[in-house]
This record gives sequence, structure tokens and C-alpha cells, in this order.
Amino acid sequence: MLEKELEIGKKAVIKAMRITAAVQRSLSKKDAITKADRSPVTIADFASQAVICRILKNAFPGLPIVAEENSDVLKKPENEAILRRILQYLERDDDINKIVKEDNLFESIDLGCGVPDDKIFWTLDPIDGTKGFLRGEQYAIALALIVKGTVQLGILGCPNLRIEGSSPDLGCLIFAVRGEGARILNLDKNEAEKIRVSSISQPEKMRFVQSYESAHGNLDLQLEIVRILEMDRDPVQVDSQVKYGFVSAGNAEIYLRIPNPKTPDYKEKIWDHAAGSIIVEEAGGRVSDIFGKKLDFSVGKTLRNNTGIFVSIPSVHKRILEIIENLGLKSR
Ligand code: AMP
Ligand code: MG
Repeated sequence: MLEKELEIGKKAVIKAMRITAAVQRSLSKKDAITKADRSPVTIADFASQAVICRILKNAFPGLPIVAEENSDVLKKPENEAILRRILQYLERDDDINKIVKEDNLFESIDLGCGVPDDKIFWTLDPIDGTKGFLRGEQYAIALALIVKGTVQLGILGCPNLRIEGSSPDLGCLIFAVRGEGARILNLDKNEAEKIRVSSISQPEKMRFVQSYESAHGNLDLQLEIVRILEMDRDPVQVDSQVKYGFVSAGNAEIYLRIPNPKTPDYKEKIWDHAAGSIIVEEAGGRVSDIFGKKLDFSVGKTLRNNTGIFVSIPSVHKRILEIIENLGLKSR
């Protein structure tokens, strides 16, 4: 099922991975802009979104794309140098050069300004973890297809993730189609292998991952859960949906994101969780909010019916939900 969507989606993400990896290798301070919400966006975010949206639209003209970025800030005269830098990177690839050029760059980026609907749409984070990208660390390119409110296909490009089955140079691509399992693609060999979550049974031996950015979670409560479980190791901080990649490939057992009390109104965005969640589920893991509620991708750009995110291997899911319940957290 969804064979064409998977093939084109993978091709688009791989193209974007090569560009973002090249940008990260020679990144300068001038390559980033601060958006109105104070979060950063870089030339790589725009290039990735333009390329992926253009490839998807050419293959599936009728499917809306709901992506994180838009071209508004790039149109400002003071950002002309950033615009030129994006075009320089796009020009390096002959295939891309044919479809995304100076005269359609804004339009290509804004192909991602689609609106979620109740039938079918793509959702894209062209660089999830831009802050990690700027630090030279982990980030992901995250693409998913949502059909009637359920994620049916997810692709995560992780250029800096080195795990079993990844390429030493290019990182890895992890993907899943609902009902068909999760796979990792070695980008050097073009071979895909099934991945499964780990089968560790003692909670104290498990590995816990959380956001690198402390503002994106409640570090105190997350640490308290680690203590209650008497885990041997402290949480590992990793940017982006690479955390879902860790759990799906058996490199971590728990990923918890309890809302930060300083940003009580923050709602998780669909593009930050769609691809990662289906990949973990198809690898045999559990994904819910912190109260055990299924993530609801049917209500627009945010997961407004959910509170936080909780991902784990099956054996420890119920136990952690009980611990969270006993902590007396309130649903938002
Ligand atoms: P991570 O590296 O897992 O923290 O994920 C990065 C994502 O966190 C970004 O793409 C943002 O959309 C999202 N984010 C921004 N502010 C917050 C917040 N206050 N709480 C939770 N997530 C946030
Ligand atoms: Mg993101």
C-alpha cells in the first residue's frame, strides 16, 4: 500500500538530506534568521521545504502539504543574502535545478502552506530540531501522510544519526507504512532492513531520551520518573524526532515530553510527531500522550486534544502511565 507515496516521499527526503548536510558542514551565523516567534529558521529549512514540496506536488498535485515554514520572512529585502545562499545550494544538484529555481522559489516553499483536511494530506517539518542543526548536532527531516486523521506513512531522514544499519557518511532514513512494519535504509547500500523496539524488561536497565532544549519539557518531573523507576542512567538529551528513531531502532526504551509549566499554552505540532509516531508504532512500540490518550491528528495543525508525548516499549508503558497519574498532573 502507498507504494508510490513511499517511493516519491523517500526520494524527496533524501534530496533534502544531502542539501541540509552540506549546509550544516559549512554553516555560518549569517545563514539563520529569527522568526517572529523567536525560533530560528535557516537556509537549510527553506531549501529542504522547497525541494520536498516541489517533488511531492509534481507527483501528487491534488494532495495538500502542511509544512512548518513559509516564504514571508525571505521576501524581506534585508534577507536577500539568505535567498542567494539558498539558490546556491539548490543549483548544485542538476535534478533540483530543473524544478526549483529563482523564479519559483517562494512558490515552491509556499506549496507547503496547505490546510489539514479530513481526507488526506502530507505534513512536513523540513528541519525538525533547527536548534540542534545550528549546534551541529542531531536534526531530522520529517514527512508523513495523514489519511482521515490517522498517520499512514512516515519518513524520517536523520543525517547525523549513526546506528546499526546507517551509512557512515549520510546517516539514515527510517520509514514505515501502517501495517507493514518499520525499516531503516542504509543510504550507501540502498538496502532496507526491518527495525524493532528493544525487548529489555527491567526498567532500571532502560534508556530514557528527552529534548535537548530544556524549555521543551518538564525536566524536573521527567527526572523524578527516572528516579521512581530506579533507572541506572540519567536521561539522554537529543534534538528532534531522532528520539523516535532511537526508540524504534532499539537504542532507547522511553521518550517522555511532559509540558513545560512555563509554556502552559504550547500545543504540540503535527509535523513534530506524525512521522516519528508511526515509525515507533510499526516497530512495535507504544505512542500516546502523557495520560495514555492516543495522539489525535484529526484536529488541524496541532495536537490540541493531547497533553505532552509519551513513547516507550510496551512492557513499561502502563507502569509509567500509573506513575504519571500518581504525580497528579492536570490535562490541558
Ligand atoms: P525537540 O528537539 O524534541 O524538543 O523538538 C523540537 C520541536 O519542539 C520544535 O520543532 C518546536 O516545534 C517544538 N517546541 C517549541 N517550543 C516548545 C515548547 N514550549 N514545548 C514543547 N515543544 C516545543
Ligand atoms: Mg520541529
